[in-house]
Amino acid sequence: MPSHPCDGRLYIGGAFVPAASGRTGSVEEKATGAEIGRYALGSAADVDRAVAAARAAQPGWAALAAPERAAHLRAFARRLEERYDELVEQSMRETGGVRAKGEDEVGTGIRQLLQSAVQAGESAGDVLPPYKAGKLSLSRAVPIGVLGLITPWNYPMNLAMRALAPGLAFGNTVVLKPAELTPVIGGQALAEAAHDAGLPPGVFNVVTGDGPDAGWPLARHQGVDLLDFTGSREVGLAISRAAAGELRDIRLELGGSNAFVVLDDADVELAAGCAMIASLEFQGQTCISASRHLVQREAAGAYLDAVVARAAALEVGDPFAPGTALGPLISAAQVDRLQHAIVGPSLAMGARLLTGGTHDGLFYRPTVLADVTPEMPAFREEVFGPVIPVTVVDSEHEAIALTNGLPMLMNSVFTRDLVRGLAVAEQLQAGEVHVNDAHARHGAENQLPAFTRRQWIGVQRTPLNLPDWAQAPATRES
Ligand code: NAD
Repeated sequence: MPSHPCDGRLYIGGAFVPAASGRTGSVEEKATGAEIGRYALGSAADVDRAVAAARAAQPGWAALAAPERAAHLRAFARRLEERYDELVEQSMRETGGVRAKGEDEVGTGIRQLLQSAVQAGESAGDVLPPYKAGKLSLSRAVPIGVLGLITPWNYPMNLAMRALAPGLAFGNTVVLKPAELTPVIGGQALAEAAHDAGLPPGVFNVVTGDGPDAGWPLARHQGVDLLDFTGSREVGLAISRAAAGELRDIRLELGGSNAFVVLDDADVELAAGCAMIASLEFQGQTCISASRHLVQREAAGAYLDAVVARAAALEVGDPFAPGTALGPLISAAQVDRLQHAIVGPSLAMGARLLTGGTHDGLFYRPTVLADVTPEMPAFREEVFGPVIPVTVVDSEHEAIALTNGLPMLMNSVFTRDLVRGLAVAEQLQAGEVHVNDAHARHGAENQLPAFTRRQWIGVQRTPLNLPDWAQAPATRES
């Protein structure tokens, strides 16, 4: 148990305080709808206080020796480790994910802290080749200052930690606004652990609340040196437009329509097994979920049969029940979007429903759609739900062209010919491509961003040979 439960309060300047509005919202267990806590409804006034606390704390935090900051991060990780089982179950309740997903989220969050503790102690500078005789040129990494973090609900702890851990390690201070659907695992629990770990006041602050009231003031705050946003393209675009008008620094991690390509010589059983993970794990609500399946005509029949057989047999229910593969979707709004903006309109445009398409409250059956064409929402939009839209293509070339036509983060390619798989992978424009695998971990998640600026320092070691016009007039030659 934390020594100070956050319990519906904000964490500002090392203290747990109510929101200026005095208002709180309900934290719900997604599978049952039961209230499992409260969170503070923060607003611009709270963001002001949190940013001021972070600004005040930043010089002192940056001035600590790197090993001291690293020790704070390790203590932070230990407090989370002590509460590991409880936090995994908190994640299951708040996000609706099964235990393996909760373990992945909390375990990754803790590892990111430990990894950043190591990075904090690593040399963060270089001696550069001199660009002028007698000059010593150095570069050093300096903190950016105050970071504003806005995070989504799908992996609330480790997506916050992805910026929080390296941000703190390199001497920045942080104001975090977690998603309102997961304010405890994404914010309050982190505040409690940081507090019990003895992080200096103001180094890490949490302002819970909804997007427009708490997120937008943080995104626009003049006291924030870098805003790091992870979430939807719509909100990312609004933040980006506002930042462009004010010349503010932002980093955006958004969504896309990831493609899963099955070529004519693929092992369709392997591809169908991987499709369960790629499109259905955590109900398909992952930024790297496969959102559209492009299958070469020769493989399409066997692939659809294999995918439907697997999807139809999956258990949907309470994430705590043994045997459950898929828990509830995150919200009624998400179910509504899936039914009325993705599946329904695509069926109306001629897609064929092979299994699923129904829901019981937030519990949505795994759904397979055939005959999906590139004009349909099931192809164009980020599905973000347990739906496998299948589009038949006539060639590898067509699969590549259609894949590259939309924004995406990650692709998979299935073929028995690895050289062909590599050649296709090279032509796809996603940041990450897997051959014969779903979105497997391969270490990319360990490459945490640095959250530093480079400062170049030049030291002239020998007397300067100034040009005549720069000399004092009395000593000039002419
Ligand atoms: P969202 O954009 O609705 O919300 C994300 C965060 O932004 C939340 O904290 C929310 O409160 C806040 N927000 C909402 N409106 C805001 C506003 N006007 N101003 C400032 N903040 C605001 O996204 P979501 O539904 O929580 O998450 C799902 C999306 O996130 C998907 O598109 C998914 O692909 C993406 N995502 C991307 C990554 C990645 O690493 N690229 C990781 C996870 C999720």
